[in-house]
Amino acid sequence: MALDSKIPNGPIADKWTNYKDHINLVNPANKRNLDIIVVGTGLAGGSAAATLAELGYNVKAFCFQDSPRRAHSIAAQGGINAAKNYKGDGDSIYRLFYDTVKGGDYRAREANVYRLAEVSGNIIDQCVAQGVPLAREYGGLLDNRSFGGTLVSRTFYAQGQTGQQLLLGAYSAMNRQIGRGKIKMYNRHEMLDIVIVNGKARGIIARDLITGKIERHSAHAVVIGSGGYGNVFFLSTNAMGSNATAAWKIHKKGAFFANPCYTQIHPTCIPVSGDHQSKLTLMSESLRNDGRIWVPKKLEDAQAIREGKKKATDLSEDERDYFLERRYPAFGNLVPRDVASRAAKERCDAGFGVNKTGEAVYLDFAAAIKRYGTEDAYVKGLDDKDAALVTKLGAAIVKSKYGNLFQMYYKIVDEDPYTTPMMIYPAVHYTMGGTWVDYNLMTTIPGCFSIGESNFSDHGANRLGASALMQGLADGYFVLPYTIGDYLAPDIKMGEISTDLPEFVEAEKAVVDQINKFINNNGKHSVDYFHKKLGKIMWNKVGMARNAKGLTEAIEEIAALREEFYKDVKVPGSAYEFNQELEKATRVADFLELGELFAKDALHRNESCGGHFREEYQTEEGEALRDDENFAYVAAWEYKGKPSDAVLHKEPLNYENIKLVQRSYK
Ligand SMILES: Cc1cc2nc3c(=O)[nH]c(=O)nc-3n(C[C@H](O)[C@H](O)[C@H](O)COP(=O)(O)OP(=O)(O)OC[C@H]3O[C@@H](n4cnc5c(N)ncnc54)[C@H](O)[C@@H]3O)c2cc1C
Repeated sequence: MALDSKIPNGPIADKWTNYKDHINLVNPANKRNLDIIVVGTGLAGGSAAATLAELGYNVKAFCFQDSPRRAHSIAAQGGINAAKNYKGDGDSIYRLFYDTVKGGDYRAREANVYRLAEVSGNIIDQCVAQGVPLAREYGGLLDNRSFGGTLVSRTFYAQGQTGQQLLLGAYSAMNRQIGRGKIKMYNRHEMLDIVIVNGKARGIIARDLITGKIERHSAHAVVIGSGGYGNVFFLSTNAMGSNATAAWKIHKKGAFFANPCYTQIHPTCIPVSGDHQSKLTLMSESLRNDGRIWVPKKLEDAQAIREGKKKATDLSEDERDYFLERRYPAFGNLVPRDVASRAAKERCDAGFGVNKTGEAVYLDFAAAIKRYGTEDAYVKGLDDKDAALVTKLGAAIVKSKYGNLFQMYYKIVDEDPYTTPMMIYPAVHYTMGGTWVDYNLMTTIPGCFSIGESNFSDHGANRLGASALMQGLADGYFVLPYTIGDYLAPDIKMGEISTDLPEFVEAEKAVVDQINKFINNNGKHSVDYFHKKLGKIMWNKVGMARNAKGLTEAIEEIAALREEFYKDVKVPGSAYEFNQELEKATRVADFLELGELFAKDALHRNESCGGHFREEYQTEEGEALRDDENFAYVAAWEYKGKPSDAVLHKEPLNYENIKLVQRSYK
């Protein structure tokens, strides 16, 4: 099957407007004859469900949590980008487009990225109209801060809780429609398969997670907004429940899976503390606005710190290596995440790590506290040479910007980041890969759309900070509501789709069979036992740095682990009750397949780009070395019975508006 990305013709800046002007529309009276299933009510699914219902469609929305408010989107801390140029620092739609394509190491689709930048301003207006309390400056105007990979301030934020506030906005909009009966909300329901009738997505099979009942739901189109698959690594900054099942199930029924190996490892997370952990915690990238990253210059000092004989604050400025500022003077601590993560790993691998495991670097706020405090003392006419006063004033300003993040760090690590530097290390955070979609956000299954983190997205091989919220909300509020109408227009007279069709019966049977198999398996090991093992293979051989040998081994090891899982997994309890072990089993079964495809994708891509770093392909200075001649394409995999048999399709990436050059942040 040939991939058709359906990118409209014409100059890049006009594509979206012209396209919208000419696609099919469904008139308001006919929208009420059409049903749409939305799987996922995070920022992408929630904004889509609310907007589609507002337009008049009948929406059935599903989430596995007890409320849409608990979607993983709530965890987003730092902010959301938009090209508003409120700071007057030279921002523009083109510059956001350029930064995103460059940040993604030239592996994103230009037309989608431009559209994303174009609608970014609307998102902020929409959210402000909903009452989302984005941070404001003293004069009342919306405030901005900087994120990595950019030279402007374009990130809108709500202290360190931006995702939560945006999600409350989307949830309020959804609630209005739930109240009107236009959205039927299925909380605590998990989609376990898609139903395809005559080649088109016409419904899903879902499990009521409280009763265990298996249900059939039909619709004229299905939208997947199920989030990312970072938990394939077991340890990640994602919510514990985040999983790949919805995306993987549609993949197995015909949706191509694109660039699975593009994973973002975030540089500023609280380091792993031991084997007991089931989750990692992010310290927002916004902290890199003010925090300076360093390790000791001398190996003896690093060792003394690891052994508890010295403290960070014992080292003078001369004894510290601010390695990002040293290596990347133009962007300093605000280089993109892939660059910052690799630089931290390089220092720790060389023996300069500062915690017991040797896998941590410092993120230090002392300079920011002093700078802010001195300025504040001056403004207030106080003694700016009084060190105690300056520290007090500066700490108060830092607290007003990042207070909740500092408190979170203190609670987890039991060290006060106002007086001693934070320790951080890279951790799995975001997946740029996902189901392949065309310009309409439709997968290769007609009528099945994918939005937000679950699609292969606009971020190429690396996402810039604060761009995931932008993409999820662009998809849900401003793109899908147009493009889905074009698809649905021919279906207005179709009427309700019966769930008695044989395709529903067959899909339901497959789901029930899998559940029964798990319940009756009676193996020796818990689901987590296998998930942890998978995570270790992924982190060690498919993680921040990969090579052909490790990837080949990983592929074999994951396939063997999958076999062992089916033979030896133990799922206690029954199918018809609230059974979280069973939920985990179905999710880990899918991770065990996805992990293999992930490694296969990483092995075939003989270049380094963005979040995909192949040790064999690097510059003399250790930077990612792309091969544009052979790899400037989206790798879209077609399922053929098992991950090892997946067939590669290539969507060539044509850079007509941005020149392909080796990425540099110096
Ligand atoms: C700690 C952290 C901080 C972050 N901070 C930022 C930030 O500051 N700025 C930024 O831009 N990005 C940030 N990100 C990334 C961003 O939060 C996510 O990419 C984004 O929120 C994903 O939104 P989503 O709607 O696609 O998915 P999610 O919010 O993950 O929602 C997924 C939804 O799908 C549902 N679901 C999944 N599978 C099924 C199924 N099988 N059946 C039924 N329902 C299902 C879930 O119940 C949920 O409702 C951060 C990420 C993390 C981990």
